[in-house]
Amino acid sequence: MTPTGTRRQNFNCRRQASPAGGQTCPPARRRGSPDAPEAAPAGLTASYSPHGWHEECGVVGLWCDSAQIADLCYLGLFALQHRGQESAGISVTNGLHIETVKGMGLLPEALRDGRPTLRGHAAVGHVRYSTHGGSLNCNVQPIFAYSRGGFVGLAHNGNLTNAEEIKAQMEAAGCLFQTTTDSEVILNLIATSPHPILEDAVATSLNRVSGAYSLVILLPDRLIAVRDPKGYRPLCLGRLPDGGWMFASESCGLDAVRAEFVRDVLPGEMVTVDHNGPRSYFFAKAGKINACVFEHIYFARPDSVLDGLSVWQARFEMGRQLAREFKGEADIVIPVPDTGITAALGFSKESGLPYFEGLIKNRYVGRSFIMPQQVSRENTVEMKLNPVRANLADRRVVLIDDSIVRGTTSARIVSLVRRAGAREVHMCISSPPITQSCLYGIDTSIRKELIASTMSVGQIGATLGVDSLLYLSRQGLLDSVGDPKNERNCLECFS
Ligand code: SF4
Repeated sequence: MTPTGTRRQNFNCRRQASPAGGQTCPPARRRGSPDAPEAAPAGLTASYSPHGWHEECGVVGLWCDSAQIADLCYLGLFALQHRGQESAGISVTNGLHIETVKGMGLLPEALRDGRPTLRGHAAVGHVRYSTHGGSLNCNVQPIFAYSRGGFVGLAHNGNLTNAEEIKAQMEAAGCLFQTTTDSEVILNLIATSPHPILEDAVATSLNRVSGAYSLVILLPDRLIAVRDPKGYRPLCLGRLPDGGWMFASESCGLDAVRAEFVRDVLPGEMVTVDHNGPRSYFFAKAGKINACVFEHIYFARPDSVLDGLSVWQARFEMGRQLAREFKGEADIVIPVPDTGITAALGFSKESGLPYFEGLIKNRYVGRSFIMPQQVSRENTVEMKLNPVRANLADRRVVLIDDSIVRGTTSARIVSLVRRAGAREVHMCISSPPITQSCLYGIDTSIRKELIASTMSVGQIGATLGVDSLLYLSRQGLLDSVGDPKNERNCLECFS
């Protein structure tokens, strides 16, 4: 990911401008398709995602009359940086004008030339990892369009499952698209809606799309937050300390600006905020809720609370449940840092086995880590994780990780632990085997690359080189997230 600099856009809302970034994008390519772009040129940029999972965007929305509104938005996004590292942007409006600053890379790179300087009453922000549309400059969000004498700005977390179909219909009717994102389909549906009442325009537009979307929508006189009827991606509402309201993908985004958590936006709910405060509408009938359980396993920050459940507590319970399901014998428990830590603590607590640090993560190897050309990609695990030999030598080790995607990284980690002298390695995974790709905004891998889609647990264990391999049971996972009858969570990638 090469930073391409910050772009500042400053428009008067009366201007009949074209949508979005104004840059021509190549034709859209679907994630996982044979012609999907490579994640990074080999040997140049090794994005550090230990398992092959990539988080899928974070959004922030603010309604407050503050000179610091862009800074508040920045701080909220900074707390959500783990949800997307490819690009970032912030839009601020005073009702007449909208100013947007966005760019490629982590927040400090993307907004290195500054934040919007407009003093306004509303802002939306976005950090992005692309699942649909590719990592292109023109796809950086927030995106916006001009319609009915005003503007509509939008930031989206999730993935639509019928975007291509709707886009083809809209293009046939003469609609122009300036990005290759599914988010622009929603934007154009709203912008071209005949409904005079904006909430109705948003509701009827959303009733045409399927899939996952948590949105913040910026309008001249109001801010709208929406969560899809199944609640795939999280979104919550908070109250700012000096008055005003804030939406964020995770509660840690509210904490970053000392906003008080008020509640989660509910599946199928639209919350509108204006000078009269927040109002709630339900634009879709309640059905089976399908909140992504991987938010609790891996994606979300452990200090966040999603849908009333502490992510840390859920991971701790996964570890405790794993310990109940583990039938082997061992001397110590170690995590694969960072996301295995909380489950390893839970495993240790339940089993009575001592918790040790067996692998130390190089804290300076971030997600924008640049690998030297001459260093093989085979060495990337060693660049990021180094074993603590004093803790591992001659011990029977339970190694806790949150998931196995392709298995290549896990095999290298097991090899590291063995080379450090571990006598036995028992790998315990705090999720069931992943056998399906995700359609709802998580970039896993295409199905055939998922090791559990083609191998049995025994075969995977042999491939990784472990003495035993245990995945958390499906029921154990559901119990850990307080949903024993699977009434609220999506588990499709384990089907
Ligand atoms: S398929 Fe898996 S990753 Fe995708 S939303 Fe469902 S639980 Fe989450």
